[in-house]
Amino acid sequence: MQENIIIADKGPTSQTGSWQQQLSQAVRDPAVLCQRLGLSDKWLPGARTGHQLFEVCVPDAYLSRIAPGDTGDPLLSQVLPLDDEALILPGYVADPLEEADHQPASGLIHKYAGRVLLIASPNCAINCRYCFRRHFPYSDNSPSRAQWQQALDYLRADTTIQEAILSGGDPLAANDRQLAWLVGELEQIPHLKRLRIHTRLPVVIPDRVDTLLLDWLKSTRLQKVVVLHINHANEIDQAVVDACTRLTQAGATLLNQSVLLRDVNDSVTTLAALSERLFEAGVLPYYLHVLDPVQGAAHFDVPDSEARELVAELRNHLPGFLMPRLVREIPGEGSKTPI
Ligand SMILES: *Cc1c(COP(=O)(O)O)cnc(C)c1O
Ligand code: SF4
Repeated sequence: MQENIIIADKGPTSQTGSWQQQLSQAVRDPAVLCQRLGLSDKWLPGARTGHQLFEVCVPDAYLSRIAPGDTGDPLLSQVLPLDDEALILPGYVADPLEEADHQPASGLIHKYAGRVLLIASPNCAINCRYCFRRHFPYSDNSPSRAQWQQALDYLRADTTIQEAILSGGDPLAANDRQLAWLVGELEQIPHLKRLRIHTRLPVVIPDRVDTLLLDWLKSTRLQKVVVLHINHANEIDQAVVDACTRLTQAGATLLNQSVLLRDVNDSVTTLAALSERLFEAGVLPYYLHVLDPVQGAAHFDVPDSEARELVAELRNHLPGFLMPRLVREIPGEGSKTPI
């Protein structure tokens, strides 16, 4: 019965095929990307340069939300590689979060009290140009079932851990058989209370939120939090709203984290519209991250002083519950650091 309701709610979508098919058909060629977006040839050399450093990947479902020919489109700059990515600048490094220092087991990062991050999939459904994981050595961090045992043993042994956070890459890029298995193992650990999933997939390919996913999500005893990664209101079309509804109906609390990005969302109007649109989709703003100083992404940077002013002004436009927390991740700190 519940299943029928969920399917009926899904409504029409312009995309066809399973999420895996949609992902395998994603645009991965800079020339095709420029052509599909109606960009003139002058963008192509830059797109090729950036692509060499971090390959293009944009599924149709996301591409369809970008206005062709509009080089100022806030979704375009999140996916279009530029020459600037090749700049080597002081302070912009490959592993800005120094995560390599906090891996007691393969695929597991333990930096903060009570919660542990598990790299559930090395892959993403989209390659975001600002990504702080663009240089992450994922090949060392996509454990097989046997290798997960080390991480699971670590979780079993530390009774202070209450929350397992599935991360990546994008954890929902893993298939549901693997995810159902992993969640099945996690929920047998008595001191674990919560399962958190940090993902951009329901935004990039809303059809990812399908029956198989909802099945394991609904059936776990763990409390569920899904943290979406959305940077601009234009990313939330009706298919995304419907995917959020399905997640909520499966019992998940929905939050969002954004990255403050130059020329994408660095204005009060844009940030206010994002919070309003998130709430329409049943999602509460959680974090607004300032950019991690990752090599190749400096052109997205907004200085802290400007970020502070933006957020102070944003407070004059939004109810308190729609205000994201402005934070930075500082290596060695016990939590994200408010700015
Ligand atoms: C951000 C992060 C978390 C979660 O932090 P919250 O403040 O609870 O959202 C956990 N582990 C790692 C390694 C993180 O980077
Ligand atoms: S989905 Fe997240 S992890 Fe993947 S490229 Fe985008 S920002 Fe990075």
